[in-house]
Amino acid sequence: MFFENNLAFAQSLDQQDPLHPLRDEFLLPSQHGAPVIYMCGNSLGLQPKSARQYMDEQLNNWAHLAVEGWFEGKTPWMFYHKELKGLMAAIVGASAAEVCPMNTLTVNLHLLMVSFYRPTATRFKIIMEAGAFPSDQYAVESQVRFHGYDPKTAIIEVAPRSGEDTLRTEDILATITRHDGEVALVLFGGINYFTGQFFDMPAITKAGHAAGAIVGFDLAHAAGNVPLELHNWGVDFACWCSYKYQNAGPGGISGIFVHEKHFPDTSLDRFAGWWGYQEQTRFRMQKGFIPEAGADGWQVSCTQVIPMSLYHASLKIFEKAGFMAPLRQKSQALTAYLQFLIEAINKDLGFEQYKIITPVSESARGAQLSIIAQHKAKEIFQALVAHNVLGDWREPNVIRLSPVPLYNSFEDVFHTAARLREISTTLLTPKQ
Ligand SMILES: *Cc1c(COP(=O)(O)O)cnc(C)c1O
Repeated sequence: MFFENNLAFAQSLDQQDPLHPLRDEFLLPSQHGAPVIYMCGNSLGLQPKSARQYMDEQLNNWAHLAVEGWFEGKTPWMFYHKELKGLMAAIVGASAAEVCPMNTLTVNLHLLMVSFYRPTATRFKIIMEAGAFPSDQYAVESQVRFHGYDPKTAIIEVAPRSGEDTLRTEDILATITRHDGEVALVLFGGINYFTGQFFDMPAITKAGHAAGAIVGFDLAHAAGNVPLELHNWGVDFACWCSYKYQNAGPGGISGIFVHEKHFPDTSLDRFAGWWGYQEQTRFRMQKGFIPEAGADGWQVSCTQVIPMSLYHASLKIFEKAGFMAPLRQKSQALTAYLQFLIEAINKDLGFEQYKIITPVSESARGAQLSIIAQHKAKEIFQALVAHNVLGDWREPNVIRLSPVPLYNSFEDVFHTAARLREISTTLLTPKQ
């Protein structure tokens, strides 16, 4: 794509962008009485204006119907999750039966590992990316210990080669193949939270299956960010949070995916609770757990209506956008524009002050760019915040910026880079 480094050009891209009006569906934050340029949707998505209305509807049902709300009203709580399932399925490339909103992400990771990490004396290893999100590391370590194995021998981490920042697909696949017969589970992020690398999920899935393993993904940074085909890729299970690219609010409800090939398998262990019980007969309250068909059978506790209503509001905006294909197209352009503008700053400074560690290849990244600031990193990040550009900071020197196609504009990207340029020329001495 051809880009220009000026405001009029950025504005012209916004004018041509059919998704641009969706920005009006969100509440944009402000600071010091001025609008914030929000580049932090990778951490917490913005609030849809409709969120309040969706939540109010359920609060009203509670107020007026009280306990009858479970079976009465426009959207009886008993079945409310079904309003979301089709929309979630469209985002992750699944059938409605394969997904379910429930709990929070790390909790779901544990619940799914109960079913899908079933180590034996010869096959107990888990292959994952080095530098996975800490919660995932802790979850995996504790699962391994729970089964009586030692994380040091059971967990195989694939790390970047020395001098490199991201993983090579060939190294991931070779590691899986090398552990053929002894790997029980391949568990990767869809997109690594730190580097923004979008892994080759179909290739990883295929290699995992060829090695006789189950393959699962944590899609915290991928769901709602990049197009996914969980069903067609044959992924066994996945889970994600809804508060990052899916704008469902802090602590928002999580989603799970279980491939339908596992539905008939009655030998799968699960940590059961009454809400996973067969829906038709749940309230007979009988002894002996019979799971509801599909992903719904992994539910444990009573459905979380209020958090679901917030997720619902956001999912309806994804539907309005036409789901992931149009969003991805805009996202790639936004992020490529950000990359172009940052490289222009380096050029003018005369050295590589900003090293983008996220892959340059568009198929290997989502919205996020992770940028190492070589000099005065913290100062520069703080100056960005003071100038109303909100990205996020990862020790020791990484700034993550994520233009999100649902609500960010090309003008946002332009201003982000323009302020970064100003700050950089003030704080650093250009080389001649
Ligand atoms: C954000 C994130 C989490 C957070 O998990 P919660 O249980 O929702 O707190 C976990 N894993 C990854 C990969 C994440 O990016």
